[in-house]
Amino acid sequence: MASKKKRARSSAASPRFEDFGLSATTLKVLRAVGYEKPTPIQAGMIPRAIDGDDLIGQARTGTGKTAAFAIPIIEVLETRRGKSPRALVLVPTRELAVQVRGEILRLAQGRRLTCVALYGGKPIRGQIEKLRRGADVIVGTPGRVLDHMSRRTLDLRELEIVVLDEADRMLDIGFRPDIERILRQCPAERQTLLLSATVPPPIERLAQRYMYEPVSLDFSPEDISVETIEQFYFTVEHSRKFELLQRLLTRDNPRQAIVFCRTKRRTETLFRRLSKQFQQTACIHGDMSQNNRDRVMERFRAGKIRYLIATDVVGRGIDVTSISHIVNFDTPQFCDDYVHRVGRTGRMGREGVAYTFVAPEEGPELTRIEQRINRQLRRDEISGFGAVPERAAAVPGAAKAPLTDTPGKPAAAPPPPPFGRRGRRHRRAL
Ligand code: AMP
Repeated sequence: MASKKKRARSSAASPRFEDFGLSATTLKVLRAVGYEKPTPIQAGMIPRAIDGDDLIGQARTGTGKTAAFAIPIIEVLETRRGKSPRALVLVPTRELAVQVRGEILRLAQGRRLTCVALYGGKPIRGQIEKLRRGADVIVGTPGRVLDHMSRRTLDLRELEIVVLDEADRMLDIGFRPDIERILRQCPAERQTLLLSATVPPPIERLAQRYMYEPVSLDFSPEDISVETIEQFYFTVEHSRKFELLQRLLTRDNPRQAIVFCRTKRRTETLFRRLSKQFQQTACIHGDMSQNNRDRVMERFRAGKIRYLIATDVVGRGIDVTSISHIVNFDTPQFCDDYVHRVGRTGRMGREGVAYTFVAPEEGPELTRIEQRINRQLRRDEISGFGAVPERAAAVPGAAKAPLTDTPGKPAAAPPPPPFGRRGRRHRRAL
Protein backbone atom coordinates (compact mmCIF):
# COMPACT_ATOMS: atom_id res chain seq x y z
CA MET A 1 0.00 0.00 0.00
CA ALA A 2 1.37 3.44 -0.92
CA SER A 3 2.38 5.57 1.98
CA LYS A 4 3.41 9.17 2.29
CA LYS A 5 4.00 10.99 5.52
CA LYS A 6 2.81 14.44 6.29
CA ARG A 7 3.23 16.40 9.46
CA ALA A 8 0.47 18.36 11.03
CA ARG A 9 -0.24 19.97 14.33
CA SER A 10 -3.52 21.15 15.66
CA SER A 11 -3.58 24.90 15.15
CA ALA A 12 -7.05 26.12 16.07
CA ALA A 13 -6.78 28.39 19.10
CA SER A 14 -9.80 27.12 20.98
CA PRO A 15 -11.60 24.48 18.98
CA ARG A 16 -15.10 23.35 19.89
CA PHE A 17 -16.83 20.05 19.24
CA GLU A 18 -19.48 22.06 17.39
CA ASP A 19 -16.88 22.97 14.74
CA PHE A 20 -16.31 19.39 13.65
CA GLY A 21 -19.61 18.80 11.89
CA LEU A 22 -20.67 16.17 14.44
CA SER A 23 -24.25 14.96 14.57
CA ALA A 24 -26.68 16.48 17.05
CA THR A 25 -26.87 13.12 18.87
CA THR A 26 -23.12 13.05 19.47
CA LEU A 27 -23.02 16.69 20.57
CA LYS A 28 -25.78 15.96 23.05
CA VAL A 29 -23.93 12.93 24.44
CA LEU A 30 -20.71 14.91 24.76
CA ARG A 31 -22.53 17.49 26.84
CA ALA A 32 -24.16 14.77 28.92
CA VAL A 33 -20.83 13.09 29.75
CA GLY A 34 -19.27 16.45 30.58
CA TYR A 35 -16.82 16.80 27.68
CA GLU A 36 -17.08 20.55 27.27
CA LYS A 37 -14.28 21.05 24.78
CA PRO A 38 -12.05 18.75 22.79
CA THR A 39 -8.63 17.87 24.11
CA PRO A 40 -5.76 18.66 21.68
CA ILE A 41 -5.64 15.14 20.26
CA GLN A 42 -9.40 15.18 19.76
CA ALA A 43 -9.24 18.54 17.99
CA GLY A 44 -6.48 17.19 15.77
CA MET A 45 -7.89 13.77 15.02
CA ILE A 46 -11.68 13.95 14.94
CA PRO A 47 -12.18 16.19 11.88
CA ARG A 48 -9.44 14.46 9.88
CA ALA A 49 -10.65 10.99 10.81
CA ILE A 50 -14.19 11.90 9.78
CA ASP A 51 -12.71 13.11 6.48
CA GLY A 52 -11.37 9.61 5.98
CA ASP A 53 -7.63 10.20 6.41
CA ASP A 54 -5.30 7.55 7.79
CA LEU A 55 -3.79 9.05 10.94
CA ILE A 56 -0.87 8.44 13.26
CA GLY A 57 -1.69 10.14 16.57
CA GLN A 58 1.22 10.35 18.94
CA ALA A 59 -0.26 10.70 22.40
CA ARG A 60 -0.11 9.15 25.83
CA THR A 61 -3.11 7.75 27.64
CA GLY A 62 -4.86 10.37 29.73
CA THR A 63 -5.02 12.80 26.81
CA GLY A 64 -8.49 11.79 25.67
CA LYS A 65 -7.16 9.58 22.89
CA THR A 66 -9.94 7.00 23.19
CA ALA A 67 -12.66 9.50 22.37
CA ALA A 68 -10.42 10.84 19.59
CA PHE A 69 -11.03 7.61 17.67
CA ALA A 70 -14.33 6.58 19.27
CA ILE A 71 -16.20 9.69 18.13
CA PRO A 72 -15.22 9.28 14.44
CA ILE A 73 -16.12 5.58 14.59
CA ILE A 74 -19.55 6.40 16.00
CA GLU A 75 -20.13 9.15 13.45
CA VAL A 76 -18.98 7.11 10.47
CA LEU A 77 -20.93 4.01 11.48
CA GLU A 78 -24.11 5.95 12.13
CA THR A 79 -26.09 4.03 9.60
CA ARG A 80 -26.38 0.40 10.61
CA ARG A 81 -25.80 -2.18 7.92
CA GLY A 82 -25.92 -5.94 8.41
CA LYS A 83 -24.33 -7.89 11.22
CA SER A 84 -20.65 -7.85 10.28
CA PRO A 85 -18.30 -5.63 12.21
CA ARG A 86 -17.43 -2.33 10.58
CA ALA A 87 -14.79 -1.12 12.99
CA LEU A 88 -12.00 -3.00 14.74
CA VAL A 89 -9.92 -1.60 17.59
CA LEU A 90 -6.83 -3.59 18.54
CA VAL A 91 -5.49 -3.00 22.05
CA PRO A 92 -2.59 -4.52 24.01
CA THR A 93 -4.41 -5.66 27.17
CA ARG A 94 -7.71 -7.05 28.36
CA GLU A 95 -8.21 -4.15 30.74
CA LEU A 96 -7.81 -1.67 27.94
CA ALA A 97 -10.27 -3.65 25.81
CA VAL A 98 -12.89 -3.34 28.55
CA GLN A 99 -12.13 0.33 29.07
CA VAL A 100 -12.25 1.22 25.37
CA ARG A 101 -15.49 -0.68 24.88
CA GLY A 102 -16.95 1.21 27.85
CA GLU A 103 -15.96 4.57 26.38
CA ILE A 104 -17.35 3.68 22.94
CA LEU A 105 -20.69 2.62 24.42
CA ARG A 106 -20.81 5.68 26.66
CA LEU A 107 -20.32 7.95 23.67
CA ALA A 108 -22.77 5.96 21.55
CA GLN A 109 -25.67 6.44 23.97
CA GLY A 110 -28.95 6.85 22.17
CA ARG A 111 -27.82 4.81 19.15
CA ARG A 112 -28.22 1.18 18.30
CA LEU A 113 -24.50 0.66 17.95
CA THR A 114 -23.22 -2.62 19.35
CA CYS A 115 -19.69 -3.20 20.55
CA VAL A 116 -18.12 -6.49 21.61
CA ALA A 117 -14.83 -6.92 23.48
CA LEU A 118 -12.75 -9.95 22.53
CA TYR A 119 -9.93 -10.91 24.84
CA GLY A 120 -8.34 -14.00 26.30
CA GLY A 121 -9.04 -15.38 29.74
CA LYS A 122 -12.79 -15.42 29.13
CA PRO A 123 -14.60 -18.42 27.69
CA ILE A 124 -14.73 -18.07 23.94
CA ARG A 125 -18.31 -19.37 23.71
CA GLY A 126 -19.90 -16.25 25.16
CA GLN A 127 -17.94 -14.12 22.73
CA ILE A 128 -18.98 -16.30 19.80
CA GLU A 129 -22.60 -15.92 20.82
CA LYS A 130 -22.26 -12.14 20.99
CA LEU A 131 -20.60 -12.05 17.58
CA ARG A 132 -23.37 -14.20 16.16
CA ARG A 133 -25.94 -11.68 17.32
CA GLY A 134 -24.04 -8.97 15.45
CA ALA A 135 -21.44 -6.39 16.44
CA ASP A 136 -20.73 -3.06 14.76
CA VAL A 137 -17.47 -2.50 16.61
CA ILE A 138 -14.97 -5.03 17.89
CA VAL A 139 -12.44 -4.12 20.54
CA GLY A 140 -9.94 -6.86 21.11
CA THR A 141 -6.46 -8.07 21.87
CA PRO A 142 -4.68 -9.38 18.76
CA GLY A 143 -4.40 -12.99 19.99
CA ARG A 144 -8.09 -13.43 20.67
CA VAL A 145 -9.12 -11.60 17.51
CA LEU A 146 -6.96 -14.01 15.48
CA ASP A 147 -8.43 -16.93 17.37
CA HIS A 148 -11.92 -15.87 16.30
CA MET A 149 -10.75 -15.29 12.75
CA SER A 150 -9.33 -18.79 12.52
CA ARG A 151 -12.57 -20.25 13.92
CA ARG A 152 -14.45 -18.18 11.34
CA THR A 153 -16.54 -16.64 14.07
CA LEU A 154 -15.28 -13.20 13.10
CA ASP A 155 -15.59 -11.87 9.58
CA LEU A 156 -13.59 -8.75 8.82
CA ARG A 157 -14.66 -8.28 5.21
CA GLU A 158 -17.00 -5.39 5.98
CA LEU A 159 -14.50 -3.42 8.03
CA GLU A 160 -14.32 0.28 7.32
CA ILE A 161 -12.08 1.47 10.15
CA VAL A 162 -9.20 -0.22 11.94
CA VAL A 163 -7.63 1.35 15.02
CA LEU A 164 -4.30 0.28 16.49
CA ASP A 165 -4.42 1.65 20.03
CA GLU A 166 -1.20 1.87 22.07
CA ALA A 167 0.62 0.49 19.06
CA ASP A 168 4.06 0.85 20.65
CA ARG A 169 2.95 -1.25 23.58
CA MET A 170 1.47 -3.91 21.33
CA LEU A 171 4.80 -4.23 19.54
CA ASP A 172 6.69 -4.21 22.86
CA ILE A 173 4.79 -7.24 24.06
CA GLY A 174 5.31 -9.14 20.85
CA PHE A 175 2.01 -8.68 19.02
CA ARG A 176 3.60 -7.54 15.78
CA PRO A 177 3.11 -10.83 13.83
CA ASP A 178 -0.49 -11.12 15.05
CA ILE A 179 -1.24 -7.53 14.10
CA GLU A 180 0.20 -8.03 10.64
CA ARG A 181 -1.79 -11.20 10.12
CA ILE A 182 -4.96 -9.37 11.08
CA LEU A 183 -4.22 -6.33 8.92
CA ARG A 184 -3.56 -8.52 5.91
CA GLN A 185 -7.10 -9.86 6.23
CA CYS A 186 -8.71 -6.43 6.43
CA PRO A 187 -10.17 -4.80 3.31
CA ALA A 188 -7.55 -2.74 1.45
CA GLU A 189 -9.80 0.31 1.21
CA ARG A 190 -10.33 0.57 4.97
CA GLN A 191 -9.26 3.60 7.02
CA THR A 192 -6.50 3.01 9.60
CA LEU A 193 -5.89 5.07 12.73
CA LEU A 194 -2.80 4.40 14.80
CA LEU A 195 -2.34 5.73 18.33
CA SER A 196 0.97 5.46 20.08
CA ALA A 197 2.81 7.19 22.92
CA THR A 198 6.02 6.94 20.92
CA VAL A 199 6.64 6.48 17.20
CA PRO A 200 9.92 4.58 16.94
CA PRO A 201 11.09 3.08 13.60
CA PRO A 202 9.18 -0.23 13.96
CA ILE A 203 5.93 1.72 14.26
CA GLU A 204 6.87 3.83 11.26
CA ARG A 205 7.57 0.68 9.26
CA LEU A 206 4.22 -0.79 10.28
CA ALA A 207 2.50 2.44 9.22
CA GLN A 208 4.37 2.51 5.93
CA ARG A 209 3.29 -0.99 5.16
CA TYR A 210 -0.30 -0.96 6.25
CA MET A 211 -1.51 2.63 6.09
CA TYR A 212 -2.39 4.87 3.17
CA GLU A 213 -0.66 8.26 3.11
CA PRO A 214 -0.92 8.61 6.89
CA VAL A 215 -0.97 12.07 8.42
CA SER A 216 1.14 12.27 11.57
CA LEU A 217 -0.24 14.28 14.46
CA ASP A 218 2.17 14.76 17.29
CA PHE A 219 0.64 15.51 20.66
CA SER A 220 3.51 14.30 22.78
CA PRO A 221 4.33 17.14 25.11
CA GLU A 222 7.85 18.56 24.98
CA ASP A 223 8.35 17.29 28.48
CA ILE A 224 6.91 13.83 28.30
CA SER A 225 6.21 13.50 31.99
CA VAL A 226 2.98 15.11 32.96
CA GLU A 227 3.32 18.63 34.32
CA THR A 228 0.91 18.21 37.18
CA ILE A 229 2.67 15.15 38.60
CA GLU A 230 5.26 15.67 41.28
CA GLN A 231 7.98 13.06 41.00
CA PHE A 232 10.27 11.95 43.81
CA TYR A 233 12.63 9.13 44.56
CA PHE A 234 13.75 7.45 47.75
CA THR A 235 16.99 5.60 48.12
CA VAL A 236 16.34 2.32 49.88
CA GLU A 237 17.93 -1.08 50.24
CA HIS A 238 15.85 -3.82 48.64
CA SER A 239 15.38 -5.42 52.04
CA ARG A 240 13.82 -2.24 53.50
CA LYS A 241 11.43 -1.36 50.68
CA PHE A 242 8.44 -2.82 52.47
CA GLU A 243 9.12 -0.83 55.61
CA LEU A 244 9.47 2.32 53.52
CA LEU A 245 6.20 1.64 51.73
CA GLN A 246 4.35 1.28 55.02
CA ARG A 247 5.83 4.53 56.28
CA LEU A 248 5.06 6.34 53.03
CA LEU A 249 1.42 5.22 52.90
CA THR A 250 0.97 6.22 56.52
CA ARG A 251 2.60 9.61 55.93
CA ASP A 252 0.77 10.50 52.69
CA ASN A 253 -2.52 8.74 53.30
CA PRO A 254 -3.23 8.52 49.54
CA ARG A 255 -6.75 8.77 48.17
CA GLN A 256 -5.93 5.89 45.82
CA ALA A 257 -2.56 4.47 44.84
CA ILE A 258 -1.06 1.99 42.42
CA VAL A 259 2.09 0.27 43.60
CA PHE A 260 4.11 -1.18 40.72
CA CYS A 261 6.28 -4.28 40.97
CA ARG A 262 8.40 -5.85 38.25
CA THR A 263 7.05 -9.38 38.35
CA LYS A 264 3.80 -11.22 39.02
CA ARG A 265 5.44 -13.02 41.92
CA ARG A 266 6.67 -9.86 43.57
CA THR A 267 3.20 -8.37 43.09
CA GLU A 268 1.63 -11.33 44.91
CA THR A 269 4.17 -11.32 47.71
CA LEU A 270 3.83 -7.61 48.32
CA PHE A 271 0.06 -7.92 48.27
CA ARG A 272 0.13 -10.65 50.92
CA ARG A 273 2.35 -8.59 53.20
CA LEU A 274 0.66 -5.24 52.67
CA SER A 275 -2.90 -6.49 53.02
CA LYS A 276 -2.06 -7.59 56.58
CA GLN A 277 -1.34 -3.97 57.49
CA PHE A 278 -3.64 -1.95 55.25
CA GLN A 279 -7.28 -2.53 54.45
CA GLN A 280 -8.67 -2.09 50.94
CA THR A 281 -5.55 -3.55 49.34
CA ALA A 282 -5.68 -5.71 46.20
CA CYS A 283 -3.41 -6.86 43.44
CA ILE A 284 -3.73 -7.39 39.71
CA HIS A 285 -1.47 -9.26 37.31
CA GLY A 286 -1.58 -11.45 34.25
CA ASP A 287 -1.78 -14.79 36.08
CA MET A 288 -5.13 -13.97 37.65
CA SER A 289 -8.31 -15.19 36.00
CA GLN A 290 -10.05 -12.63 33.86
CA ASN A 291 -13.07 -12.61 36.14
CA ASN A 292 -10.87 -11.82 39.09
CA ARG A 293 -9.11 -9.05 37.21
CA ASP A 294 -12.42 -7.54 36.12
CA ARG A 295 -13.71 -7.67 39.68
CA VAL A 296 -10.61 -5.97 41.04
CA MET A 297 -10.81 -3.22 38.42
CA GLU A 298 -14.48 -2.67 39.11
CA ARG A 299 -13.84 -2.29 42.85
CA PHE A 300 -10.85 -0.05 42.23
CA ARG A 301 -12.90 2.20 39.96
CA ALA A 302 -15.67 2.32 42.56
CA GLY A 303 -13.12 3.44 45.18
CA LYS A 304 -13.56 0.27 47.24
CA ILE A 305 -9.89 -0.59 46.77
CA ARG A 306 -7.40 2.00 47.86
CA TYR A 307 -4.05 0.35 47.23
CA LEU A 308 -3.67 -1.64 44.05
CA ILE A 309 -0.45 -3.57 43.51
CA ALA A 310 0.16 -4.20 39.83
CA THR A 311 2.57 -5.33 37.16
CA ASP A 312 3.36 -3.08 34.20
CA VAL A 313 1.44 -4.87 31.49
CA VAL A 314 -1.79 -4.89 33.47
CA GLY A 315 -1.32 -1.60 35.26
CA ARG A 316 -0.43 0.61 32.36
CA GLY A 317 -3.87 0.98 30.82
CA ILE A 318 -5.67 1.80 34.04
CA ASP A 319 -7.61 5.02 33.76
CA VAL A 320 -9.05 6.00 37.11
CA THR A 321 -9.06 9.72 37.70
CA SER A 322 -8.98 9.54 41.49
CA ILE A 323 -5.54 7.89 41.60
CA SER A 324 -3.46 10.31 43.63
CA HIS A 325 -0.28 8.28 44.11
CA ILE A 326 1.99 6.04 42.08
CA VAL A 327 4.66 4.09 43.91
CA ASN A 328 7.35 2.38 41.88
CA PHE A 329 8.20 -0.25 44.48
CA ASP A 330 10.57 -1.66 41.86
CA THR A 331 12.19 0.53 39.24
CA PRO A 332 10.64 -0.26 35.86
CA GLN A 333 12.44 -2.60 33.51
CA PHE A 334 12.02 -0.32 30.52
CA CYS A 335 12.25 3.46 30.51
CA ASP A 336 8.92 3.79 28.71
CA ASP A 337 7.24 1.92 31.53
CA TYR A 338 8.20 4.71 33.90
CA VAL A 339 6.25 7.17 31.77
CA HIS A 340 3.29 4.83 31.53
CA ARG A 341 3.26 4.06 35.25
CA VAL A 342 3.49 7.67 36.31
CA GLY A 343 0.85 8.65 33.77
CA ARG A 344 -1.74 6.64 35.76
CA THR A 345 -2.02 9.62 38.09
CA GLY A 346 -2.49 13.28 37.19
CA ARG A 347 -5.26 12.25 34.78
CA MET A 348 -7.02 15.07 32.97
CA GLY A 349 -4.95 17.71 34.74
CA ARG A 350 -5.61 16.49 38.28
CA GLU A 351 -2.76 16.54 40.72
CA GLY A 352 -0.72 13.47 41.41
CA VAL A 353 2.50 12.36 42.97
CA ALA A 354 4.87 9.56 42.01
CA TYR A 355 7.57 7.96 44.14
CA THR A 356 10.28 5.67 42.86
CA PHE A 357 12.17 3.37 45.24
CA VAL A 358 15.77 3.25 44.06
CA ALA A 359 18.22 0.77 45.55
CA PRO A 360 21.69 2.18 46.20
CA GLU A 361 23.16 0.36 43.20
CA GLU A 362 20.37 1.58 40.90
CA GLY A 363 21.76 5.08 40.40
CA PRO A 364 22.21 4.46 36.65
CA GLU A 365 18.55 3.39 36.36
CA LEU A 366 17.46 6.60 38.00
CA THR A 367 19.66 8.62 35.67
CA ARG A 368 18.26 6.88 32.64
CA ILE A 369 14.68 7.59 33.72
CA GLU A 370 15.57 11.23 34.23
CA GLN A 371 17.12 11.43 30.79
CA ARG A 372 14.04 9.80 29.33
CA ILE A 373 11.68 12.34 30.87
CA ASN A 374 14.17 15.17 30.53
CA ARG A 375 13.65 16.15 34.12
CA GLN A 376 15.26 15.42 37.46
CA LEU A 377 13.36 13.56 40.14
CA ARG A 378 13.48 15.20 43.55
CA ARG A 379 14.78 13.26 46.50
CA ASP A 380 12.34 12.64 49.30
CA GLU A 381 13.17 11.50 52.79
CA ILE A 382 11.43 9.79 55.63
CA SER A 383 13.65 9.56 58.68
CA GLY A 384 15.91 6.58 58.22
CA PHE A 385 15.43 6.56 54.44
CA GLY A 386 16.85 8.82 51.77
CA ALA A 387 20.64 8.73 51.20
CA VAL A 388 21.66 9.72 47.68
CA PRO A 389 22.30 6.77 45.38
CA GLU A 390 25.55 6.36 43.57
CA ARG A 391 24.83 8.53 40.54
CA ALA A 392 28.51 8.49 39.70
CA ALA A 393 27.96 4.92 38.60
CA ALA A 394 26.02 6.23 35.61
CA VAL A 395 28.83 5.68 33.18
CA PRO A 396 28.87 3.20 30.30
CA GLY A 397 28.97 -0.33 31.54
CA ALA A 398 28.75 0.57 35.21
CA ALA A 399 25.13 -0.45 35.74
CA LYS A 400 24.82 -3.75 37.55
CA ALA A 401 21.37 -4.58 36.27
CA PRO A 402 20.94 -2.07 33.46
CA LEU A 403 17.52 -0.78 32.60
CA THR A 404 17.23 -1.98 29.06
CA ASP A 405 15.46 0.23 26.60
CA THR A 406 14.09 -2.50 24.42
CA PRO A 407 13.11 -6.03 25.31
CA GLY A 408 15.88 -8.37 24.34
CA LYS A 409 18.34 -5.61 23.58
CA PRO A 410 21.09 -4.50 25.89
CA ALA A 411 20.75 -0.99 27.23
CA ALA A 412 22.42 1.67 25.17
CA ALA A 413 25.42 3.07 27.00
CA PRO A 414 24.06 5.88 29.12
CA PRO A 415 25.39 9.28 28.10
CA PRO A 416 26.60 11.78 30.66
CA PRO A 417 23.58 13.05 32.54
CA PRO A 418 22.49 16.35 30.96
CA PHE A 419 19.06 17.51 32.02
CA GLY A 420 18.66 20.35 29.59
CA ARG A 421 17.60 19.98 25.99
CA ARG A 422 20.75 18.08 25.14
CA GLY A 423 19.35 15.11 27.01
CA ARG A 424 16.71 14.66 24.35
CA ARG A 425 19.29 13.75 21.73
CA HIS A 426 20.07 10.65 23.72
CA ARG A 427 16.50 9.41 23.62
CA ARG A 428 16.33 5.82 22.68
CA ALA A 429 15.07 4.53 19.41
CA LEU A 430 13.23 1.25 19.70
P1 AMP B 1 -7.95 8.52 27.58
O1 AMP B 1 -6.71 9.28 27.19
O2 AMP B 1 -8.75 8.13 26.42
O3 AMP B 1 -7.57 7.35 28.48
O4 AMP B 1 -8.91 9.51 28.44
C1 AMP B 1 -8.58 9.96 29.72
C2 AMP B 1 -9.80 10.49 30.47
O5 AMP B 1 -10.23 11.71 29.92
C3 AMP B 1 -11.02 9.60 30.45
O6 AMP B 1 -11.47 9.49 31.78
C4 AMP B 1 -12.04 10.33 29.61
O7 AMP B 1 -13.35 10.09 30.05
C5 AMP B 1 -11.66 11.77 29.80
N1 AMP B 1 -11.93 12.65 28.64
C6 AMP B 1 -11.73 12.38 27.34
N2 AMP B 1 -12.05 13.43 26.55
C7 AMP B 1 -12.43 14.43 27.38
C8 AMP B 1 -12.88 15.78 27.17
N3 AMP B 1 -12.95 16.32 25.95
N4 AMP B 1 -13.21 16.51 28.25
C9 AMP B 1 -13.12 15.98 29.50
N5 AMP B 1 -12.72 14.71 29.77
C10 AMP B 1 -12.36 13.93 28.72
